[in-house]
Amino acid sequence: MTTQQVSVGGQTIDAGKKQTFRFACSETYHDDTLEIPVTVINGESEGPCVFLTAAVHGDELNGVKIIQEVADHYEPEDLHGALVCLHVLNVPGFLAQQRYIPIYDEDLNRSFPGNTRGTMAKRLANTIYEEFISKCDLGLDFHTSTRNRTTMYHVRADMRDPDVERLARAFGTSVILDGEGSRGTLRSVACRDGIPTVTVEMGRAHRFQTAHLDRALHCVASVLAEHEVLPDRPVSWPGWTRVVARDGEKTWVRAETGGLVEMEWGPHPLVEDGEPLFTISDHFKNDVEVIRAPSTGLVVGVLENAVAYPGHPLCHFVSVDEETTDVIRNDIERGVFDVYREGGFQWPEPRWYTEHERESDSERGGRNDERK
Ligand SMILES: [Zn+2]
Repeated sequence: MTTQQVSVGGQTIDAGKKQTFRFACSETYHDDTLEIPVTVINGESEGPCVFLTAAVHGDELNGVKIIQEVADHYEPEDLHGALVCLHVLNVPGFLAQQRYIPIYDEDLNRSFPGNTRGTMAKRLANTIYEEFISKCDLGLDFHTSTRNRTTMYHVRADMRDPDVERLARAFGTSVILDGEGSRGTLRSVACRDGIPTVTVEMGRAHRFQTAHLDRALHCVASVLAEHEVLPDRPVSWPGWTRVVARDGEKTWVRAETGGLVEMEWGPHPLVEDGEPLFTISDHFKNDVEVIRAPSTGLVVGVLENAVAYPGHPLCHFVSVDEETTDVIRNDIERGVFDVYREGGFQWPEPRWYTEHERESDSERGGRNDERK
């Protein structure tokens, strides 16, 4: 919990103050300082310290815009607690519009918690972790799909940890992928250290996707409500939630032959068992492979460049049970299921959200997938 002051990145921010600064995190071979833009909003009242991070993969831009908007929107008088906004983590990748740190192609999001004697990525990770993340109570790390792919708006979280589960559910995406995260990710290291953190995934790299952004701002507010940083605001509920277990329920559907790929699924990502997902054909349309849904489920992530080699992953597929299928089908019929294939899974408006009580105000048990 924040008391009065927040001390991060060599700065001390008093309660009731909002401060922006650039934190020198490393330097280039061109002798320039690399700086992370930071906004700290320290509330007038006490509460948890929440970090928001973006662009640990340098070309994943939706989160950069979300953090710009969050940092602009909230003022100290709004908050019981503090927001620590790190607008861009992988500054060299951001400058080059690349996923990894350029030249040596190191993945900053496999380098946490880092150390002071290792590679550029390890040092940068260590500085970020020690100066900011380790001083916060919980956090959200924003990502998009990698280039040439797009992904449904979803959260990745270690649902075995009750505090992480609380955070993931409060964020309020319909799909939650359960798992502890790869070794060296910001999320896995923070969670290991008792700082509940989830990864938020949405859409494409290299874009600001307005509908995702609007929805994410709503979801950030919901997390702040759940943790009483915004005590007067209700927590949001997305209408249905599917927690995808770590084993067996999600799969990569792959091409068996090389060729030109056409999408057959859509407009919604809910597909029936055996329904065609893709066709792959040669230039003369002589050789056509039809790839079908392995079960009834959701297309959660999909390629965007329309060519494939044998073995190339075409989509990330999640099976759904009959009950969830019925809820989704019902939402589609009522015109409130706004996940479309076209537009990279954009959700025009979060209008189907309903309000529900804060987790801490109600029973914890029995509120999982059956909560509809
Ligand atoms: Zn990423």
